[in-house]
Amino acid sequence: MPRPLLATIDISALQHNLRVARTRAPNSKVWAVVKANAYGHGLERAVRAFAEADGLALIEPDYAVRLRELGWEKPVLLLEGFFDASDLEVVISQQLEIAVHCDEQIALLESKLPNNQSTYQLPVHLKMNSGMNRLGFSPDAFRAAHLRLRKIPGIGNITLMTHLANADDPLNPGLPLQQQVACFERGIAGLEGERSLANSAADLMHPELRSDWVRPGVMLYGATPGGDSAKSFGLRPAMTLTSKIIGIQKIAAGEAVGYGSRFVADHPMIVGVVACGYADGYPRHAPTGTPVVVDGVRTSTVGRVSMDMFSVDLTAVPGAHVGSDVLLWGNGLSVDEVAHAAGTIGYELLCAVAPRVRVTES
Ligand SMILES: *Cc1c(COP(=O)(O)O)cnc(C)c1O
Repeated sequence: MPRPLLATIDISALQHNLRVARTRAPNSKVWAVVKANAYGHGLERAVRAFAEADGLALIEPDYAVRLRELGWEKPVLLLEGFFDASDLEVVISQQLEIAVHCDEQIALLESKLPNNQSTYQLPVHLKMNSGMNRLGFSPDAFRAAHLRLRKIPGIGNITLMTHLANADDPLNPGLPLQQQVACFERGIAGLEGERSLANSAADLMHPELRSDWVRPGVMLYGATPGGDSAKSFGLRPAMTLTSKIIGIQKIAAGEAVGYGSRFVADHPMIVGVVACGYADGYPRHAPTGTPVVVDGVRTSTVGRVSMDMFSVDLTAVPGAHVGSDVLLWGNGLSVDEVAHAAGTIGYELLCAVAPRVRVTES
């Protein structure tokens, strides 16, 4: 018998969320972002669910090849571009598109691309560092990079791209959104080409930033980057993680639960043991009080999460028994809420679901 822990992926929710992204940005083309195994939902499912997207964007060159093997013929974008010369061969043979964010990549394109026999005109998404200080050319170096790229035979369209640090928190004092956008505008002034700025947060909250391309990721999976709840944006959770109670303990006041005995009951309690632990991707740092639903009743975790199980308070779930249904997140309990209780974000929980967790579709 398999373990009761199960991730159910709702394909229609993925399709629905893509429609939301499109409706929000009706004049933009959509890169559905499928990095990290489609945020833990499975690349093959993403290919089916996002058939209507204009392209799929991801980080991993080997997964990009996998998309082609799965029959995806529309554009595929490598959001960090290629990592070395061998990737560049794959980029050409699989007809991928690439972000270009540093001089080293341009130098490799200059030395390798002209010798290439392929007629493929490689589309490039030239990335600007508009203030996040992660990847990209500074606004002052952007034009020179653009000119250098333009001179390389074999380079096709050049899209002007940047990535926003605070689209979910526009007044962030570290880097206000408007400052970042103004920086981008300054760096691209006078350059021809399509523009690409918006991640999920911008797609959901900043209509003015939906340019030629939008790049929604987490919203497609029914979670939000911050701000309002996914539900309030009309998004549906795509992954529902469920398990069962596999043991029950009656404990007296003064007794402790779990490793480190971090939780000590101050009154008699009934505690259930859930088949799910950090080796499944449930966050070990989730504190006592993290929400869980047992038999439809909302309750919370007690004590430390261990590798294969954690405990829940069943005091308010009197009918609970070994075999009771447990909802960890998804339909009925948002992954964002669980994540926030654990001091992280929904993205991390979705991406961290471990290979040993069984997956099914609904
Ligand atoms: C991951 C990623 C996105 C999608 O971000 P979400 O916050 O998940 O919408 C968009 N653009 C780039 C460059 C990314 O790396």
